[in-house]
Amino acid sequence: MTDIPKTMRAAVTRDWNDIRIEEAPVPELEAGEVLVRVGACGICGTDLKIVSGVYKGTWPPALPFIQGHEWGGTVAALGAGVAGLQVGDRVAAENHKGCGACAMCRKGRYNLCEVARTKGKAYKLYGHSAQGAFADYAARPAGLLHKIPDTVSFEESVIVNQGALGLHAIRRCRIEPGDTVAVIGPGLVGLITLQLAKAVGAIRVIVVGRGARLDLARELGADEVVDYSVTDPVEAIRALTGGRGVDCAFECGGTPAAMSAAVNCVRRGGRVSLVGLTGNKPVELNMDRLVLDEIDVFGVRSSPNAYPELIALIAAGKVNVRRLVSRVYPLQRINEAFEAFRKREGGAIRMVIRV
Ligand SMILES: [Zn+2]
Ligand SMILES: [Zn+2]
Repeated sequence: MTDIPKTMRAAVTRDWNDIRIEEAPVPELEAGEVLVRVGACGICGTDLKIVSGVYKGTWPPALPFIQGHEWGGTVAALGAGVAGLQVGDRVAAENHKGCGACAMCRKGRYNLCEVARTKGKAYKLYGHSAQGAFADYAARPAGLLHKIPDTVSFEESVIVNQGALGLHAIRRCRIEPGDTVAVIGPGLVGLITLQLAKAVGAIRVIVVGRGARLDLARELGADEVVDYSVTDPVEAIRALTGGRGVDCAFECGGTPAAMSAAVNCVRRGGRVSLVGLTGNKPVELNMDRLVLDEIDVFGVRSSPNAYPELIALIAAGKVNVRRLVSRVYPLQRINEAFEAFRKREGGAIRMVIRV
């Protein structure tokens, strides 16, 4: 067993928009938990909101708080009763810990745990409502840790978090071999969904976005790209598919316009996965079309049961996540990394903190 110190470095959110590198106690393990030496942890759009107090009182419930929820590391110590993991194992960490007892958890849909909004219950969302991983160490229940092979770096393991969301989106709308697919919004999730769609048998993927992201989409396998600032995306997709529309569409942009485009660009009987959030802005939808053309629309939240398969796809070279890590910063420079990500410097997709 490795020697575990009593204290560690942590990036502590002391006040809104005030992150400081401090000495903090190394988390004590409860039964069933594992202590992980953090390798790398990504900064996500949600982190920018959490740090500025957008969700104060919920994410986090109180300050000071350690953020960070997209990460991987090395197992450093095992709590009582942990099986299946060894000290030294390299792992990627999941965030959602369902209560394990409600009807949704029992169905394996722990992302929809029914006590998630009840304070003091067993549900946890690490990095949001429970301590995150911008620190030397983090403790997690063993079930949230998934082994990664030596060929997958910690920087790449960061991308597993959002990548697993893309995999869940693909499972929700059941891509079939030979399908034509549209991905609207080539951000991190969109660019992974594009690659996953190909990996599961889509023969043609059309990506809707603008600017340099479309070049990256092409590089990662998009067959066609549509710049929505130049052309109406629905008309363009219909033109590219002989007027029919695509079999499946993924909305990864989070704007009302992208939402309606996703629903309007699928064929009769088409399927739509909605991944983005509009922040409760209303979306104009022709509900008659949904009814008469039997369009299936799926909400997609988080990534239940998707980590192992996504890790296998990355390890097999089916999904390139390396290209999606924009810059790597040491923990001491976390404020600089947050600022650079806020400004999306260099078209940043993911800034990663190497711990
Ligand atoms: Zn995130
Ligand atoms: Zn539950």
